Amino acid sequence: MTATLGKDLAEGSKRYDTQIHRRATRTVNVGEIAIGSDHPVRVQSMINEDTLDIEGSTAAIRRLHEAGCEIVRLTVPSLAHAKAVGDIRNLLDSSYQHVPLVADVHHNGMKIALEVANFVDKVRINPGLFVFEKPDPDRKEFTNDEIKDIREKIFNRFEPLVQTLKKQGKALRIGVNHGSLAERMLFSYGDTPIGMVESAMEFVRICDSLDFHNIVISMKASRAPVMLAAYRLMADTMDKEGFNYPLHLGVTEAGDGDYGRIKSTAGIATLLSEGLGDTIRVSLTEAPEKEIPVCYSILQAVGLRKTMVEYISCPSCGRTLFNLEEVVQKVREATVHLTGLDIAVMGCIVNGPGEMADADYGYVGKGPGVISLYRGREEIRKVPEDQGVNALVDLIKEDGRWIDPTV
Ligand code: SF4
Repeated sequence: MTATLGKDLAEGSKRYDTQIHRRATRTVNVGEIAIGSDHPVRVQSMINEDTLDIEGSTAAIRRLHEAGCEIVRLTVPSLAHAKAVGDIRNLLDSSYQHVPLVADVHHNGMKIALEVANFVDKVRINPGLFVFEKPDPDRKEFTNDEIKDIREKIFNRFEPLVQTLKKQGKALRIGVNHGSLAERMLFSYGDTPIGMVESAMEFVRICDSLDFHNIVISMKASRAPVMLAAYRLMADTMDKEGFNYPLHLGVTEAGDGDYGRIKSTAGIATLLSEGLGDTIRVSLTEAPEKEIPVCYSILQAVGLRKTMVEYISCPSCGRTLFNLEEVVQKVREATVHLTGLDIAVMGCIVNGPGEMADADYGYVGKGPGVISLYRGREEIRKVPEDQGVNALVDLIKEDGRWIDPTV
């Protein structure tokens, strides 16, 4: 048994490692933000203002950026919207700063994409809609000639965009959506992860033939198991064909509230823990700014980015020696600005010290009305419970790890 486990550990060392090993991906620059496995997993979101509302859109982009969003997307459904993005770009740059922008282009978006590429850092196209033809309900099959014709049409419409992005040093997202696959893909593969991957690969291969590689890929679906399968298959397909493009992860239309957050986390965190994913978006039916803390929490929880204090606290039980919920809240209020620290609050010394997960500091119930403060696994001092939070702050100060909160 032990020998088998040892062999498994040796053979699958990455799988059993406590660190995530990210799939090696190339660097794709989106303005000043670099996406790829040599860089932190990036956080992005999308404004929901009408792009024709220049001031409203500019303010929304700024709000998102100030909340920590590193790349902001906006929708560009028409040529008028594409021109409006130029005004948004100017207003943003003159009144705030350069924020990496992505233009979302959908149905038959060739002219729109060419125009908006002048003002943004990345263009997102949907392979199922870029060359859109209304599905024929009476169709029984797609002949090889028909498929050849469509592929030629795609190449002819897509090539100018690729050349423009290449010339301007900009990026492209090939953003497949499970719900909008092209009719011929549905005929060949059904609405399956294989159909999603083939949709993306058609465009990837065209880009490759034009020697354009500033590409990010997404495979979004509203059901987590579908998106999980599609991203895994996409990564495997790219590996087989020698492509190392970064992946943009997301569960689309995840909903709102707790379930929207849980559903997004189920999809995104699962893939991140497998080493897949270089940028993420949590799609909530809420104000876009609310997506950003969720993204950072996911990244922190899987150990990929540290943007806040990591709090470890036990669920409390019959052994708990103080009001754990209240104390956790007080500790959080006092230390929430100390990014980089791990702080544990544990109800008792029976299991607390052993289960603090190597926290930097621990606040542990010692006996009635008394708590113990720990530095790592070392018990430093006992203090009355009502002085516990202040004593914890003092200990952090003694260690030179305290910074005053900014007002
Ligand atoms: S650390 Fe102590 S108080 Fe907290 S759940 Fe475990 S046994 Fe109970």
